[in-house]
Amino acid sequence: MLLHLRILFRRSQNQRPVTGPSPGSGGGPLDLGGRPTKRDRRRFERHLAEARLPVGKTLASFDFAAVPMVSKAQVMALASGDSWLDNGANLLLFGPPGAGKSHLAAALGLALVETGRRVLFMRTGDLVQRLQIARRELDLENTIAKLDKYHLLILDDIAYVSKDQAETSVLFELIGTRYERRSLLITANQPFGEWGKVFPDHAMTLAAIDRLVHHATILEMNVESYRRRAALERKRGAGRPPTRATIKDNT
Ligand code: ADP
Ligand code: MG
Repeated sequence: MLLHLRILFRRSQNQRPVTGPSPGSGGGPLDLGGRPTKRDRRRFERHLAEARLPVGKTLASFDFAAVPMVSKAQVMALASGDSWLDNGANLLLFGPPGAGKSHLAAALGLALVETGRRVLFMRTGDLVQRLQIARRELDLENTIAKLDKYHLLILDDIAYVSKDQAETSVLFELIGTRYERRSLLITANQPFGEWGKVFPDHAMTLAAIDRLVHHATILEMNVESYRRRAALERKRGAGRPPTRATIKDNT
């Protein structure tokens, strides 16, 4: 937390322009022309708490060299949030387990909270469960509408949602409601091929994919598990200075 406040403070000292939430989204832009006010700080803390981001996953601790196919410059541009969040565009992260999808998603979420945006990070399965309960209580529309306050909804691990869970197509309704209005960041182990398991039928799967990719940036992170590589490197490096000594501390 302190670190984030320090970042905010540093930004204010550097007088870097910071984009705030779009009008009417609750909470105006952060005024970082000077020192952040108490109110700015409280709002930042509130937004950080509500985002439910996994702790310690930052862009600073993300080793871009481990995913050479992902452009750091592109990620940094996404982290500023500006146009894609304003247009309700999406970001899709694909890659095998351990490739760093959740880390990158959480780190982007944190960076966006720091620019004054509102973010919610959820395992897709948990969100689907929550939406299904809402549906049973005839409150689905309202519950999805409430998620509108988040400029970015991060759905981690969409491919792990089972057909049973999604049978009632709550996820499809969510995707449809946010389409071209509010952004989604989705991580998946499978690029679309397995998505037939996520939605009840083929037509719905295609329609969901169509909406998601219409305005989307897709980052494919086809690398071997970072954990595995780090473990191997530690093993190999025993007795000499490890080349990535910071990996463990940063994760
Ligand atoms: P995925 O979501 O793709 O399965 P994770 O993001 O959970 O993978 O990454 C697994 C672990 O490895 C996490 O502890 C994460 O912080 C770390 N990790 C993965 N990729 C990187 C990277 N490029 N730089 C730093 N840490 C990474
Ligand atoms: Mg993950």
